[in-house]
Amino acid sequence: MTDPDCIFCKIARGELGTEFVAEGEHSVAFRDLDPKSPTHVLVVPRRHIRSLQELPLDDPGLAADLLRLCADVARREGIEASGYRVLSNDGADAGQTVFHLHFHVMGGHRLSAGLG
Ligand code: 5GP
Ligand code: ZN
Repeated sequence: MTDPDCIFCKIARGELGTEFVAEGEHSVAFRDLDPKSPTHVLVVPRRHIRSLQELPLDDPGLAADLLRLCADVARREGIEASGYRVLSNDGADAGQTVFHLHFHVMGGHRLSAGLG
């Protein structure tokens, strides 16, 4: 369920004292350590899931909880009207660096048009 060496597992369990921007039943949201936009929040499942490929298909509640929390974060951060981006890097070509599934919720300024 959790990986003792995983930094996002530690954060999700509250072990590092990280402030949560918002919480869902199965997921938590906290600010990125090195923000790439004025609002840059990470939404992660409480349990250790390495990547989108490992999201359990038999648990649709988890996927719904993650996406709902992304939308909740955007509302709380006041960027729901101005616009925002939700993205997840999966694997080497996408530049994934932390292998605990996470969605970046980014906004607060005009985001770059390029996505690939
Ligand atoms: P990835 O490159 O895997 O899509 O995104 C990992 C993100 O996690 C990066 O934006 C990085 O700044 C952030 N990050 C890495 N370590 C920590 C940490 O210990 N705390 C927080 N809050 N963010 C982290
Ligand atoms: Zn983890």
